Amino acid sequence: MGENFESRAPAEPADVLGAFAVADAAEVNAAVARARRAFPAWRDLGLEARSAVLRRFAALVKDRQEELARLIAREVGKALWDARAEAALVPAKVDLTLAEGLRLVAPIEAAPGARATFHPRGVLAVLGPFNFPAHLPNGHIVPALALGNTVVWKPSELAPAVAAWLAARWAEAGLPPGVLELVHGPGETGHALAVHRDVDGVLFTGSWAVGRSLAEAALDQPGKILALELGGKNAIVVLEDADLELAVAESALSICATTGQRCSCASRLFVAEPLLDAFTERLARALRGVRFGPPLEDGVFMGPLVSRGAWEKLARYRALRAEAGAEVVLAGECALPPPYAAPGLVRFASARQIHRYQRDEIFGPEAALYPIADLGAAIDAVNDSDYGLVASVFTRDRGAYEHAIGRVRTGLLNWNRGTIGASGKLPFGGLRRSGNDRPAGSFATLYCSVVQSHLEHAGGFDPAALPPGMPRP
Ligand code: NAD
Repeated sequence: MGENFESRAPAEPADVLGAFAVADAAEVNAAVARARRAFPAWRDLGLEARSAVLRRFAALVKDRQEELARLIAREVGKALWDARAEAALVPAKVDLTLAEGLRLVAPIEAAPGARATFHPRGVLAVLGPFNFPAHLPNGHIVPALALGNTVVWKPSELAPAVAAWLAARWAEAGLPPGVLELVHGPGETGHALAVHRDVDGVLFTGSWAVGRSLAEAALDQPGKILALELGGKNAIVVLEDADLELAVAESALSICATTGQRCSCASRLFVAEPLLDAFTERLARALRGVRFGPPLEDGVFMGPLVSRGAWEKLARYRALRAEAGAEVVLAGECALPPPYAAPGLVRFASARQIHRYQRDEIFGPEAALYPIADLGAAIDAVNDSDYGLVASVFTRDRGAYEHAIGRVRTGLLNWNRGTIGASGKLPFGGLRRSGNDRPAGSFATLYCSVVQSHLEHAGGFDPAALPPGMPRP
């Protein structure tokens, strides 16, 4: 074991959630070896017995859901309403996996004597982000375990206590030793795990920069499956016939949820020119009214950013507004000290997006308004991005929205709904720098398994089946 590190509440450094040992290369090796040893027995246990463990885990989490929500709120600074919503997703994922998820990997009976079956891959590494420290790793772990894989989990170093809490519930649920191994530490620990030769797949949720480095490392290990769930620079389109109030309310929510720290948060708003002034004024009013403060306080919508580093990154991008050619609508001045941050809003004179302020994922409550002439121009503007996770279209015209489907190049496209939120019954993933075409959500069972096709014959030898020229033996 290497050194210890502490987890502290983002805006309350005196609130220590625990001390955790950094796993060095030797500990990562040992964890992978334990997971490898546990694999055959867990695979051979069968779906029914594995499902029973998963259901016990779900019940234990459900019983103590409020405790989990408070732990999430304390550790990453998420407002309590938001943390409660996340905590509720954890047990729900078990039901979704055992229904929708498993349906996708049910044996395919293609024709008499032609069948395909799905099997676990082996040992899977799960690397998690800080912003949904319970739900997102759980979204990989549950399907991986259901299918008979074993898992080594490296949670975000900003949320080790949430991970330890969940691992304790798995142990209580009767998960056999080695089936879920937890290793703590920073990026180096994650890297050592991801490139480990005895890991059969890497299920990663996090930034493009780290995802890119994992994709590069995977070039030398082509047998390893890599599922990348990465960042976004998500867009909202507001057409001239939109319900203005709805579009403003959903935009404010999409900019500020989780203090702008969701992969699905909106940061680019393309608004029909005739509506732009009214939309800007109303959105600015809504954002000014958002209540931020201590995450556990009643009525707070937004807590602090996750760390001083995240706050400094936001400040660095805000300092680029003028250079990018933006007119500042809301500076984002904040009455509370860092890492608290108030929403910022800027406006551009055209939909051209060339500056890195306009193109990079900032990951804070910061959004830009752009004028657009029509739906065609809006689609081009949404697609002018290195990312491709979520977009929304606000219009009363269903036909206009349907036209955008398939033309907007994102993994998710919503109608009269903001960019945040997702159905657990659907796939969730993005294109380009947002992922590598392995959507999670209900599709996670697909990358947690390997398919095997079979030609089968239950009878004996039939001479009539021999092709011409092939002698009877
Ligand atoms: P991050 O990329 O900084 O870290 C994610 C995880 O990777 C952490 O556990 C970290 O320790 C680990 N890591 C860091 N360097 C590594 C390396 N070299 N090798 C292996 N692992 C390494 O991301 P974050 O700041 O925790 O989370 C925010 C990012 O995650 C944003 O970009 C956000 O959009 C993205 N995200 C995407 C989704 C999605 O479903 N697409 C969901 C949530 C968050």
